[in-house]
Amino acid sequence: MKAEILKMLRETEGYVSGQELCNKFGVSRTAVWKVINQLKETGYEIEAAQNKGYHLVSVPDVMDTVELESIRATEWAGCEIYYYDSIDSTNTKAKELAEEGHPAGTFVVADRQIAGKGRRGRAWESPHGTGIFMTLLLKPDINPNNASMLTLVAAMATAGAIRRVTGADAQIKWPNDIVIDGKKICGILTEMSAQFDYINHIVIGIGINVHNEFFPEEIAETASSLLLTCGKRFHRADLIEAFLEEFEKYYAVYLETEDMEGLYKEYNQMLVNMGRQVKVLDPKEPFEGKAMGITRKGELIVDTWESRKLVSSGEVSVRGIYGYV
Ligand code: ATP
Repeated sequence: MKAEILKMLRETEGYVSGQELCNKFGVSRTAVWKVINQLKETGYEIEAAQNKGYHLVSVPDVMDTVELESIRATEWAGCEIYYYDSIDSTNTKAKELAEEGHPAGTFVVADRQIAGKGRRGRAWESPHGTGIFMTLLLKPDINPNNASMLTLVAAMATAGAIRRVTGADAQIKWPNDIVIDGKKICGILTEMSAQFDYINHIVIGIGINVHNEFFPEEIAETASSLLLTCGKRFHRADLIEAFLEEFEKYYAVYLETEDMEGLYKEYNQMLVNMGRQVKVLDPKEPFEGKAMGITRKGELIVDTWESRKLVSSGEVSVRGIYGYV
């Protein structure tokens, strides 16, 4: 009921009368008053005027279940929302929920991660009050060999959401990072539980640096935040809702062919590496070449002096030859 009352307050320009809320939810005036007080305690500024009712003046930068449900406009993404002030890792939690039988679209979000993960066991810096740490659970009926492309789909959705909410030129560093002005704003970690020919579940974890004012020394050169690049603060729940909407849109296109057939052209337009000299940090054999975009299967096309190579995302990182991108 709290989320629904908040939604009504949001959608009404003027005042919502207390009586209207009582009738709609079949509760007493005291019950409505209690909810309004709880919202105020969370930081919502709500004006109460006699004979008029309640009017929402401003919303705090929270991304809890009530806030996200009150703005949710998606079909299935975020069908169940779990918010934590602090958690080990949102991917780990989403995997637990998957094992317990929660449906595709289940969404986990935290204000802080104690053990945030990057690829290859690396850490993701996730301090309190600065970022969005979120994971979307999927249970697609697709060939497990095609699942790695979902990282690319998530990257498009994240870049799209950041562009939509902030207006900044968010670009994708193949395969799993979002950069603005050449600095990393966001990382994506996709993990899968599968049989030989069947996917149990996939979790897509995304960390976005939103309000960070500084970074630890090891990543200070390469990392940035929306606050540092755009010079202002954004409402984290708006970014999350935009991501969920963008993901639904791109995922539907992906599912038609189970690959990037319908998406690779748009992906290439978002690709920061496009036409640039890159170093491919392949653990077997690093090499350099010019990035020419991705294929319909999501591989990065790299032209070297001798040949055209197709790089799969698995264990590979890409760098610019003079810097991070
Ligand atoms: P890269 O090409 O940046 O090495 P990757 O895809 O190989 O990316 P990820 O799994 O995306 O690596 O992220 C882990 C790495 O990102 C860490 O080793 C660290 O260098 C960097 N990092 C960790 N936390 C953050 C953060 N909050 N913002 C930006 N970069 C971070």
